[in-house]
Amino acid sequence: DWVDVTDVIQSAVDRTRKYSPGRAIETGIAPDLPLIKGDSVLLGQVLFNLLDNAVKYGGEEPINVYARRDGADVLISVTDLGKGIPSEDLDRVFEKFYRRGKPDGRAPGTGLGLSIARGFVEAMGGKIHAESPALKKRGTRVVMRFPGAEGSRTEPR
Ligand code: ATP
Ligand code: MG
Repeated sequence: DWVDVTDVIQSAVDRTRKYSPGRAIETGIAPDLPLIKGDSVLLGQVLFNLLDNAVKYGGEEPINVYARRDGADVLISVTDLGKGIPSEDLDRVFEKFYRRGKPDGRAPGTGLGLSIARGFVEAMGGKIHAESPALKKRGTRVVMRFPGAEGSRTEPR
């Protein structure tokens, strides 16, 4: 199936806003995104998992979701300004059941969200990784790259 990234981002953001009305989520979605091959239910679940993490671990500042074209690919990122992830853990957080630090009750979880996200992204032919900008010493960005459908173009809106 062909997936309209703009639609999927908007519904994942709406869903997150509903369960977490206090958190500001800003989006920047390029108007010229190609369609990507995959499944909108899977991509929606991936985005929801990333937004759920940004809500749980991301502090008070707005969460940003960006999508843009990079050559033939589509890049999607979810960024927060929380305390970030140390560089030695940036890959491990995608492992099944891996959780950083002690579970503290305020942010419960099973450690599955990111491993599920990676599985779904790879099933769609994409890649996913996490960055924590060392310069600011805080904040987490999770970036996904998907091959775009050649010649396709989302209707401008
Ligand atoms: P689940 O998603 O299953 O409810 P979880 O959030 O603990 O549980 P993952 O989403 O896989 O599991 O994340 C793994 C770990 O990576 C988290 O426990 C947390 O320590 C860290 N992590 C994930 N996202 C962020 C983030 N945005 N900022 C800081 N740490 C993060
Ligand atoms: Mg999670």
